[in-house]
Amino acid sequence: MCQVDQTYSAPLGSLDTPSISKLCVKCKVHPPAVLLRVGDPYCRGCFNDYFIHKFRAMLGKNRILFPGEKVLLAVSGGPSSCSMLHQVQEGLSVNAHKKLRFTPGIVFIDEGALTGRSLEDRNKTNSELKDLFESTGLPFYIIPLEHVLELPSSVLIQPHLPSTESAASYKVAVGEFDQNNQRIAVQPPGQEQDPAAVSEVHTLELQQLMASVKTHTARDELLCTLRQHLLLHTARSEGYSKLMLGDSCTRLAMKLLSNISLGRGAQAALDTGFSDARYGDVIAVRPMRDYSAKEIAYYNHLFNVPSVFIPGLDFKTSDKDSIQRLTESFVTKLQSEFPSTVSTIYRTSEKLQTACKDPSALDDSPRCVLCLCALDTAAENASAFQATMISEQLSQNKSPQNDCLPPHKGCTDKTQSSSDCSGQCHGGSCCSSNRLEPMELKTLLCYSCQVTIKDMSSLEHMPNYIISEAQRRLRRSQMKAEISNFLLD
Ligand SMILES: [Zn+2]
Ligand SMILES: [Zn+2]
Repeated sequence: MCQVDQTYSAPLGSLDTPSISKLCVKCKVHPPAVLLRVGDPYCRGCFNDYFIHKFRAMLGKNRILFPGEKVLLAVSGGPSSCSMLHQVQEGLSVNAHKKLRFTPGIVFIDEGALTGRSLEDRNKTNSELKDLFESTGLPFYIIPLEHVLELPSSVLIQPHLPSTESAASYKVAVGEFDQNNQRIAVQPPGQEQDPAAVSEVHTLELQQLMASVKTHTARDELLCTLRQHLLLHTARSEGYSKLMLGDSCTRLAMKLLSNISLGRGAQAALDTGFSDARYGDVIAVRPMRDYSAKEIAYYNHLFNVPSVFIPGLDFKTSDKDSIQRLTESFVTKLQSEFPSTVSTIYRTSEKLQTACKDPSALDDSPRCVLCLCALDTAAENASAFQATMISEQLSQNKSPQNDCLPPHKGCTDKTQSSSDCSGQCHGGSCCSSNRLEPMELKTLLCYSCQVTIKDMSSLEHMPNYIISEAQRRLRRSQMKAEISNFLLD
C-alpha cells in the first residue's frame, strides 16, 4: 500500500533527471543495473534480493502451500511463468535463505494445433522445453491441447471434500482416461517422447471446434476454459493439490479489465486473485501477481532465465480483433506512459477478493459448466445479464427463431430440431443421446460463458465431456422438477 508514496514522493525535479548516475538506492555502494521506477535504481545484487524476497513474501503472507504438498507449476514457456519456475528452483536450492518446502512439478500445454503449426514444428518446441524442464530435475508433463477432447466429464464436477466417494469415482474416471491416453509424462527424465502422442483426428477436431467460434474474443475465452480444464485434470490425476499460475501484475490488470468488458465481473475476484478455490480440491495460486512484466523482463535478462517464444492464438492479430487484444494494447500503453496506473488496476482486483472470500458459502450453489464458477445468472434485476435477457426477449418476439443454432451432430432429424429449439426439447423423441440444444446449454452457464457460446455457429464440435456433463445436469434438474411435488422442503 506504500506504492503510492514510492511512486509519487520523488521531487518533481528528479523526474527530468533520472538518477541513473547515482548509486544503488538500497546498498548505496554498487552502481545501479536497473531502474524500476524513477528515483529507484537497483544494483544487480539488490535487485536479485528484492525479486526473490517478493516471491517468498507472497507465498509466506498467504500461507497456502503446505510443507511436502505437491504443487503443479503451469509453465507456458513465456517470460513470466519461466521466471516463476526459476524462483521455485532458487527456493529449493540448498543455499536458499528460507528454503521452499513444497514438492513441485511442471506442466506445459502444447497449443500448437490452434495456430496451425506443423507437428514437426511443435515437436521442435516441445523438445526445447523438454531440455529446459529436464535441467530443473523436476517431474514434468508436456501435454498437447488435443487431450482435452478425451477428458472425463467428472473434471467439471467439484468434488465434495469430506466424502471420499466422489474422489473415488473421480479416480475411476481418471483411470479410464489414462488407459486410452498417450500423455507424454516424463518422470524420471531421460524417457523418450512419443511422437505419436497427438492423434491427427483430434488435431482436426480441435481445429474444427475453434473454427466454429465466430469471434476472436469468444475463441480466446474458449481456449482459456479448455486449457484450465486440462490443467485441472492433470493436477488431479497426478495428485497435485495446488496449481501455480504465472500471471504477472500486468497480465492480471489486462484480465481484470477484459473480464469486466466480457461480463465476467462476478468472477473477476477468482480469475485475478492470489488464490482461486473454485475447483474445490485443487487450488490455483498466482504468486507472480506482484511483479510487472517489466520487472520480470529485467530479471530474466540479468540472470539469464531462459524462456521459449511460442506464437499464441493472438499472434499477428490486430489490436481490434478481440476485446482481450484491445485491453492488452490499452494496458501496454498505460504501462509505458503511466506505469503506476497498471498496479492500481491490479490492486483493485485484490480488493474485490474480499467480496466472495468464503468459498464454502458457494459450495452448494449451481456452477457454470464451463468456467466452474458459481452461476451469476440469478443476480439482481439491474445486472447486465437481466438487461440482455429483456432485450433478447423483445427481439425474439419479432423473429422467434433468431437465437437458433444448428443442432449437435448426434441429431439427424434437422426439421424437428428447428421447431424445437426454443428450449422445450429435453432429450425426447427427436434426440439421440449425443444431442444438446444451445438453449439448454445456456441454462447451465454463467452470463459471460453464455455470451461465448452464442458466438459459436454450432455445438457440433464441442468436446464430449462438456456435452455429457451438461446432459447429466439437465436430466437431474428435469428429474428433480418431476418429483418436486413429492419432496419435503
Ligand atoms: Zn545495491
Ligand atoms: Zn462460466
